[in-house]
Amino acid sequence: MREFPRSFTEQQPIPAAGIERATEVMASGKLHRYNLGPGETDDAALLEQEFAGYVGRRYCVACNSGGFALHIALRALLPERGTPVLCNAFTLSPVPGAIHNAGGVTVPVETDESLTIDCDDLRLAAETHDARFLVLTHMRGHIADMDAVAALCAELGITLIEDCAHTMGAYWRNRPSGAHGTAACFSTQSNKHINSGEGGLLVTDDAELAARAVLYTGSYMFYDSHLAAPPRARVGELSGEIPNYSGRMDRLRAALLRPQLSELEARREHWNALYRRLEGRLAQADGITLPQRHAAAEYVGSSLQFWAEGLALEQFPDFISRCADRGVPVAWFGNPSARGYTSNFRHWRYLSVERALPKTQNVLSRLCDIRLPLTFTEEDCALIGEIIDDSLQATRPE
Ligand SMILES: *Cc1c(COP(=O)(O)O)cnc(C)c1O
Repeated sequence: MREFPRSFTEQQPIPAAGIERATEVMASGKLHRYNLGPGETDDAALLEQEFAGYVGRRYCVACNSGGFALHIALRALLPERGTPVLCNAFTLSPVPGAIHNAGGVTVPVETDESLTIDCDDLRLAAETHDARFLVLTHMRGHIADMDAVAALCAELGITLIEDCAHTMGAYWRNRPSGAHGTAACFSTQSNKHINSGEGGLLVTDDAELAARAVLYTGSYMFYDSHLAAPPRARVGELSGEIPNYSGRMDRLRAALLRPQLSELEARREHWNALYRRLEGRLAQADGITLPQRHAAAEYVGSSLQFWAEGLALEQFPDFISRCADRGVPVAWFGNPSARGYTSNFRHWRYLSVERALPKTQNVLSRLCDIRLPLTFTEEDCALIGEIIDDSLQATRPE
């Protein structure tokens, strides 16, 4: 039996232009974004300008992480401590973490078989908890019917914040993911679609929110060097009122990221070719079901989810270890305990609002997940699919 020969920890190198610019920044020693001599431009300000243009938003604020971007977007919007904030229950731990950090109270909402938010439950949760804010994670790149979500948010007076950690480079009806809410937050952590180790980007058209975000990141009185922020006077008006939470992005990270932005389209094409090859192979496997995508969503297949429908829950550890023994790390969202990056709403014991989420529980119980490093080839994906299929058939009862 063939083992998978490559490592799932592989990463693409930083583009040469990024390494070159980062080397210049390091040689100058001027890594802080506001340490600028006359005539010098700040790489972080340029990144913000370029990224705002990419998503089609007026303002962008670069942060030290995606979770921090979510935190300050919520800080800027929530009227008081204890404000209920809706989020799809199928999300990653930084989302309830950011809501908590901003003084909000997480109200989890059901996820359906499309792995996106259940709009009926969204209405119910909003009405029951009198909630007016929603952090919508396009989890693992699955984009909800944004027409339906936008209509419901408008009807119920809900402010939408998009968590686009898995949809940088994706589109909904030909508009970039992140252009549909009041604000959107992206991550540039190494496992996402562009890589600076750590980093986050907040975009919005709301000048008040952007001004607050610039100040929350810790811009001292240097915010006039920003190129995608509201006018200086607008930021200045608020400066004494907004605490400095110190979460800036530095020039070095921005230098690494700028050349990656122009690679996003090509990365999406490659990721989707890998995705389709693995999806095609798994579609032939007995006992595997694959999620459907909305036709209006142009996704980025940087990871793949599937349901091992044919297995009893107690057989999952055996299935996962058979895959692992052949070099394929499959994650399982139904795991009773959190593993690696994979946790689910039942693991976040600090959440104070209890909602029975039978649909989400059912959807996650047999849901498996595999990351697709961009360095892999379509042939690699065919072998990964074969290993998953073999392991599943070996685990299943006769
Ligand atoms: C990675 C991630 C974040 C936060 O990003 P960090 O940069 O790691 O803070 C938020 N939401 C989701 C769904 C993520 O995967």
